[in-house]
Amino acid sequence: MLFAHDTECGLLAAAALVNTGGAGREGLPDVAALDDFFTTHGWSGRHEHTDAELRQVRALRPRLRRIWHADADEVVEIVNGLLRESHALPQLIRHDDEPYHLHAVPRDAPLATRMAVEAAMAMADLVRTGELRRLRHCDHPDCDNVLVDLSKNRSRRFCEAGCGNRAAVSAYRARRAASHS
Ligand SMILES: [Zn+2]
Ligand SMILES: [Zn+2]
Repeated sequence: MLFAHDTECGLLAAAALVNTGGAGREGLPDVAALDDFFTTHGWSGRHEHTDAELRQVRALRPRLRRIWHADADEVVEIVNGLLRESHALPQLIRHDDEPYHLHAVPRDAPLATRMAVEAAMAMADLVRTGELRRLRHCDHPDCDNVLVDLSKNRSRRFCEAGCGNRAAVSAYRARRAASHS
């Protein structure tokens, strides 16, 4: 494990959220989609199932996506901003079956606030360890997804939307075409 468990979860959750809002598609079109996202990514705590909550979550995405394009100073500005606005106060807590980990806002804080703070806390770890290069973009030319490379040798190139397979198939076709010409 490269980072603490809650840091890795926070990074992956942030990338997953950013990737619901790519160019020209909406991965969180309605409250039901947010319910799905909530369950799939293991969120717990307050969840209102309202349009207002959905709007707040969507509004967070561009701020988080910005982190993938920013240099360290700008990342720090975004992270500090998110922590300040959310009145973050890190506390070690234990709930459900999880061991002690950090929460910096109460579990009954709005979902978008908790998502923002969890992402910010995880990014703070990347800044402190000099590992911001772990934040990468998918190598597939048709994909604008972001990813977090948590591999030991920093070898991850594609997002989880199947781009690795798509790239392998096109490389195979290109080789075949070349050998038949
Ligand atoms: Zn927790
Ligand atoms: Zn991709």
